[in-house]
Amino acid sequence: MIGRFKYDNEIFYGEIKDNRVVVARDLYNDTFLLSELQILPPVQPTKIICIGLNYKDHARELGMDIPDEPVFFLKPVTALISSLGKIVYPEVSHQVDYEGELAVLIGKRCKNISRNDAGSVIMGYTCFNDVTARDLQKKDVQWTRSKSFDTFAPMGPYIADPELDVSDLAIKTRVNGQLRQDSRTSDMIFDVPYLIEFISTIMTLEWGDVISTGTPAGVGELFVGDEVEVEIENLGLLKNTVVGRD
Ligand code: MG
Repeated sequence: MIGRFKYDNEIFYGEIKDNRVVVARDLYNDTFLLSELQILPPVQPTKIICIGLNYKDHARELGMDIPDEPVFFLKPVTALISSLGKIVYPEVSHQVDYEGELAVLIGKRCKNISRNDAGSVIMGYTCFNDVTARDLQKKDVQWTRSKSFDTFAPMGPYIADPELDVSDLAIKTRVNGQLRQDSRTSDMIFDVPYLIEFISTIMTLEWGDVISTGTPAGVGELFVGDEVEVEIENLGLLKNTVVGRD
């Protein structure tokens, strides 16, 4: 796994080996303790593309039909925070929900990628929490406000290998240690190669862009003081706390 870190105002990528981080330099390698580094979001995307309804169990839970093509929306990059970062509960919302999701990170500029070639543009995978002000999502005609507050895009902790088979991984969300979402990525309606083909026919994807692939059943509320974890098998654990506005 590769992570993006900050130490003494220097930002760098490093490979995580147990509790250490190895950073490749020109002439030698530096090794840090994981605990002495600040974890940053693993990429700086130009856009975060989120898929709406993409798990069969979530569609059933909402009493909705299985869509025949993906619905997606954009989240601003200013909403990104890393694992261990704080989700700030906005004053204008009275219902903020978690949505645990698998995120695909794009590894090169591309357009019109067929599903068979999708693997060639994937940098890796990570965990994502599509935090949503549900009351505002219901009130507004579209979803931009409800999805776009600063800190509403926790992502990480690290980048898992693009060779990883993500077609059937356990995906779980816990709030204060209590299991709230418990599904498998095999329950997705549109798989990762299909999503890359579909989106890349519409827009150019850039290095670092994020496609978050939708949330399974069990979406629910967060409150100030909560600790929320999104854990995906072989991808690690994204942990954030919810705080009130200063
Ligand atoms: Mg979502």
